[in-house]
This record gives sequence, C-alpha cells and structure tokens, in this order.
Amino acid sequence: MISSSESLQNLIRELSGLPGIGNKSAARLAYYLADAPKEKVKLLVDSINKVSKNIKRCKVCFTFSDDDVCGICSDDRRDKTKIMVVENERDMLAYENIGEYKGVYHVLGGALSPLLGIGPNELKIKELMARLSDNIDEVIIATNSSIEGETTATYIAKLIKPLNIKVTRIASGVPVGGDIENVDDVTLMRAYNGRQMI
Ligand code: ZN
Repeated sequence: MISSSESLQNLIRELSGLPGIGNKSAARLAYYLADAPKEKVKLLVDSINKVSKNIKRCKVCFTFSDDDVCGICSDDRRDKTKIMVVENERDMLAYENIGEYKGVYHVLGGALSPLLGIGPNELKIKELMARLSDNIDEVIIATNSSIEGETTATYIAKLIKPLNIKVTRIASGVPVGGDIENVDDVTLMRAYNGRQMI
C-alpha cells in the first residue's frame, strides 16, 4: 500500500506485520494514529514500551509477568493444590475470564508436534513435573482438542500417573480442532466442570 508520507508508510509496514492485521487494517490504524490526539498516541506508545521492556515469564507458571512471580502464583487466595496445564497464556486468560477456576496454571509454551519439531524438551514439561509434590491434588490438562493438544495431554498424563496425583482432562464442549481462546465462556465453563479422569 502506497502512502503520501514515508513515516506513515513505515508505520503501515510495521503494523501489517502484526498477527491478524492485513494491509487495509494497518492503513486504517496508521491514518487513525496520524490524526489522533498526541496524548492518546503517547499513552499507546508508552504502554507498548513498558511491555517490551518489563515483561518476563513467571518463574513458577511461565505466563507473562511484570515480576519474577506472576500475580496469580503469588495470590494467597488461589488454590495451590490444583494446577491447570494450558498451551499458552491466551488460553490461560480465557479460563481466567470465566472466573470459575481458583487454582493455579502452568503454561507449556505450545503443544507436542513431531511435524514442527516440537518435542517434550521444547515445552515446559520438565518444569511442570518439578512442581508436582505431595501438596498437589489435581492436574487439569486443558490443552486444545487438536491432534497436538490431545497428544500432549496423553503424554503428560502418562508421566504424572505413577505419582498418584489425580489427572483430569477438560471435557468435550471445546470443539474438536478448536482453539480454547476462541471458545465462548459458557462452553469453556462446561468443559472445565465436566473434566474427566484420564
Ligand atoms: Zn505464575
């Protein structure tokens, strides 16, 4: 897309490199920003800078965090005997948004995929196993219902079984092949409440 200004042109190029933003949306956003109040743009730029500078991974659950340990892991009101295993922080956010789950999480950083060369060492599986102690009552595996998500769930369940810790899998309701982050709250709540032993 050709713009009358080089700086706008650069902004459009950067924006169109973001996930889910095509050339047209990038141009619309860039023109909006060009015309927006300077203070509003500054707030946006500052918050992007802050994320880029400060964000790290929680050293317990591996979700994004401003501190070494995230707000959920360090919250005394959360039930530390339950760990929900998710593929990424967007899935974690989807579960947080329904407000039903009071335990803690573990973010794997993806799912097993031999095709893409993602094996157990590429995911935070060792780190999950290191968290499992006598104090853990249940591990809820909430990976996606794609082939990769199911393979990951089975793999982790097998590792945990000998430890005599209850392992459950979120129930159907999450469509086969569907991404958890795109599932509506009611379906997600049903999937959590209907989880089954595996
Ligand atoms: Zn955490």
